[in-house]
Amino acid sequence: MTAALQVETLVKQYPRHRALDGVTLDLPAGMCVALLGHNGAGKTTLMKLLLGLIRPTAGRVRVLGEDPAQVPPAFRRQLGFLPENVVFHDELTGRDTLLFYARLKGADPRRCIDLLERVGLAQAAAERVKTYSKGMRQRLGLAQALLGQPRLLLLDEPTTGLDPLLRQEFYRILQELRAAGATVLLSSHVLTELEARTDQAVILRSGRLAAWGTLDALRQRADLPVCLRVVTADPDGVEPRLDGLSTTRAIDGTLEVRCPVTDKMAVLRRIVQLGPAVTDVEIRLPDLNDVYRHFGHGPVFDGD
Ligand code: ATP
Repeated sequence: MTAALQVETLVKQYPRHRALDGVTLDLPAGMCVALLGHNGAGKTTLMKLLLGLIRPTAGRVRVLGEDPAQVPPAFRRQLGFLPENVVFHDELTGRDTLLFYARLKGADPRRCIDLLERVGLAQAAAERVKTYSKGMRQRLGLAQALLGQPRLLLLDEPTTGLDPLLRQEFYRILQELRAAGATVLLSSHVLTELEARTDQAVILRSGRLAAWGTLDALRQRADLPVCLRVVTADPDGVEPRLDGLSTTRAIDGTLEVRCPVTDKMAVLRRIVQLGPAVTDVEIRLPDLNDVYRHFGHGPVFDGD
């Protein structure tokens, strides 16, 4: 499979801060990839380097096989970018804003109305942007990023300001683009919504690549425990009978037993042997929040 994005030992040194420090990545085309990391981890810096907006201090960047800082303007039609803080001219209407960006990008202006429709802004197309809510501006930003049918979309915290239904709609649009072969790299701090909607996660930590892979692969690498939630009306009676296991009691009296994935069946058998004192058991695998906490939380203090 062709790589949509390749970076090799990428370094970005700002005057007082090293924002990226030796990141190497190779993302195949047609994937939806979550870019995760704490505030200041280097996510936006990586996106700007991929777009050729800033130059690396060292290392190599290739986007759709090309150096993004050397490509002709026509190549940029293949890239879509939604910045973290999208700012538009307040006095322009939504439609004129999109037409302006279509001209800048050399994209077909006839698609603007379709795009406004697609992001749910058709009704407000003739209104000035100053009358738009935060979510409407964000949707206009997404429409702008979709101009020119990009093969690669870089979206920096795209769901900020969107209500739950619009978030679902937004991810539906991403799925369509992905199905059509586009590659999507999106940063977000809302991990729960990314879990089922992305193919891979890249976790940055203080400018370094902390982890990268499918959620299953990351789960395996982190070797995080499984949590079995034991529902019982008699936690005081049941807890001592789970002697030797790591248990904690939740506020509602539920007992949470944590064990390695490989011990799951043995622990489950012990719980079943407790008989009617246990009314239900729920098995919770480590989710993206757990994986992120393991690999990406907090700065790296390694003394250099
Ligand atoms: P957030 O989640 O808060 O948006 P981020 O992961 O996108 O954070 P970046 O914006 O890439 O982080 O910033 C990484 C580091 O580089 C931060 O310490 C930031 O202060 C620094 N930085 C970013 N841009 C510049 C700049 N133009 N000049 C100097 N330092 C910068």
